[in-house]
Amino acid sequence: MIEGTLFVVAAPSGAGKSTLVNALLDCEPDISLSISHTTRPPRVGEEYGRHYYFVERTEFEREIAEDIFLEHAEVHGNLYGTSRTVVHDKLGSGADVLLEIDWQGARQVRARKPDCVSVFILPPSRPELERRLRGRGSDAPEVIERRLFNSREEIAHANEFDYIIINDRFEDALGDLRSIVHAVRKRAPLQWRRHETLIEELLAP
Ligand code: 5GP
Repeated sequence: MIEGTLFVVAAPSGAGKSTLVNALLDCEPDISLSISHTTRPPRVGEEYGRHYYFVERTEFEREIAEDIFLEHAEVHGNLYGTSRTVVHDKLGSGADVLLEIDWQGARQVRARKPDCVSVFILPPSRPELERRLRGRGSDAPEVIERRLFNSREEIAHANEFDYIIINDRFEDALGDLRSIVHAVRKRAPLQWRRHETLIEELLAP
């Protein structure tokens, strides 16, 4: 079995990352989204196990001590983490896996899985980032302010990623993201193994 590819997508809050990722998953059903653990309280409409595994801080800290996470980080005052086993098992079964995480988590994943492919999503401008964050309507004003303040730190790490996409026109950004996925799937080492029989046949004397 050829191991799947691990995609890592990060962005400042309000860049439209989740909408883009959800649209990508609709068009590319072979990519499996990893569901993170978090101590953040659920937003209206969010479900346990579908959006996140919502846990208490004490439980999360126990999970850190048990070393269950591939990566974990504190973001906007809450803890977030990705289960190592789930990602490992999915990749092992040949599925591509996508992590929607922050720059700190992306850095840890890159150190542990250097063959991962990381993408950073930028908003087209600062006013547009603010407009999108405020327009979401699901966060309290102080939460929005904190996310806006933290966006600079997130953006400052964009150059650590393999790709940067500007999410101005949604359809263009989705097209960019899909192109990256398609190109990665055509990388020679993968294709060489995938098409072993063809290559043997073509090389036969
Ligand atoms: P939100 O609370 O808006 O769902 O997510 C806040 C931030 O936490 C986003 O930047 C999101 O990508 C990040 N995040 C979500 N899950 C994880 C995770 O498992 N690990 C890390 N490091 N960050 C995460």
